[in-house]
Amino acid sequence: MPIDATKPYDPDNVFAKILSGELPCHKEAETDHSFAFHDINPLAAHHILVIPKGQYVSWDDFTAKASDEEILDFVRLVGKVARDRGMEQQGYRMLANVGQRAGQEVPHLHVHLFAGEPLGPMLCK
Ligand code: 5GP
Repeated sequence: MPIDATKPYDPDNVFAKILSGELPCHKEAETDHSFAFHDINPLAAHHILVIPKGQYVSWDDFTAKASDEEILDFVRLVGKVARDRGMEQQGYRMLANVGQRAGQEVPHLHVHLFAGEPLGPMLCK
């Protein structure tokens, strides 16, 4: 069920539980402020999620409220994960759903990284 990204942060969301260790995940990488792990339901041969460790509902929330240090750390980790997985040679897609109409289901900012196969058109409606 898509979420309302304008609502306050829900500390019980699944990604908060992954960060706290309450839920398991297949970890890809970690920095001081950010964390990367494999999507539980991959939609491409490679499907990795990158999230900030701070409590941000969406890209909108993050870019408005996060510190420069958190934003720099996060953006750099997205690029590093893609490079470390050799995604730039293959071509890859990054995507962040924001809010109900975009289909955001988990109310903690995440950037999807897709690669490893032809990814098709940008939007499927
Ligand atoms: P959204 O639709 O919010 O942009 O994407 C949420 C993503 O989180 C989905 O691709 C979904 O498969 C993934 N996801 C949901 N719950 C879990 C979980 O418990 N573990 C992992 N690794 N991924 C999850």
